[in-house]
Amino acid sequence: MKIMDGHCDTLTKLYMNPKLDFHKEELELDVNYPRLQRAGIKVQCFAIYLSESIHQPTFDHILQMIDIFHRKIMSHPGMSFIQNVPDWLAVEKSEQIGAILTLEGLDAMAGNMTYLRILYHLGVRSVGLTWNYANWAADGVMEPRKGGFTLKGKRMLRELETMGIIVDVSHLSVKAFWEMAELYGKPFIASHSNAGSLCPHPRNLSDEQISAIIERQGQIGITFVPYFVEPVRAPVQISQLLTHIDHVCSLGGENHVGFGSDFDGIEKWIEGLRHAGDYENIIEALCKNYKEAQVERFLYGNWQRFMLANLPK
Ligand SMILES: [Zn+2]
Repeated sequence: MKIMDGHCDTLTKLYMNPKLDFHKEELELDVNYPRLQRAGIKVQCFAIYLSESIHQPTFDHILQMIDIFHRKIMSHPGMSFIQNVPDWLAVEKSEQIGAILTLEGLDAMAGNMTYLRILYHLGVRSVGLTWNYANWAADGVMEPRKGGFTLKGKRMLRELETMGIIVDVSHLSVKAFWEMAELYGKPFIASHSNAGSLCPHPRNLSDEQISAIIERQGQIGITFVPYFVEPVRAPVQISQLLTHIDHVCSLGGENHVGFGSDFDGIEKWIEGLRHAGDYENIIEALCKNYKEAQVERFLYGNWQRFMLANLPK
């Protein structure tokens, strides 16, 4: 069964530790080529996330991470860079694994539209506006003042729409979420967030937010962060993760839900989901509860439909 995963922080790990090797079964990389291959992951999104340990994030840091993406990930002969619909279709017809480049947080962009256009030219196809805190564009979910967009942030949002870059609302404050839903006319995603009514963490989505994403033909990536699945400290099981899929479906999202693992961005894992190679355990659990056609949609088909509709033609 084919799989697409909507978010991982593997690039950040490769940036922080140059010794790590994506090409081999590197234990410290949740996502590496052998694990993607073994799991049957057909398309993986790779986020450019500038770690909190970088105190003054600049555009140069973003460029360094794109350089790493090419030197360390795309250098594997089994990987293909997906920048548009024809790339996607070519990957589907081949044995290749597709990679989509995304940006998590506009912090380093300093309100510069030229930077944004350059990122588009370099193949960045989805942008999360914030990480957890406020930046020049908008507030993140953990920012105590719970604000929305700045004027400059709204300008960049319009530019994202014009250019056809997909907006990702994971990490965005509730106020900024609704401002964005007003201002941005295209379908949007939450690449790695769960259902807040099952686990009331600020990183999760309310039922109203989930419904808005569904209504706008967007996509939600259910994420493997244990404390976004269950508020308790006990080890979290895959069956509990699947209750978030059930919940999105109960809100009418059967065609708008998939997975966004957040692998390599987490330090705690769900039981049986330690790395990308463990996707088979999700498949097994899904097959016990859903029809085959539904399982196929959750793992791949919904992301596929969204990407074919929203990547550049
Ligand atoms: Zn994240």
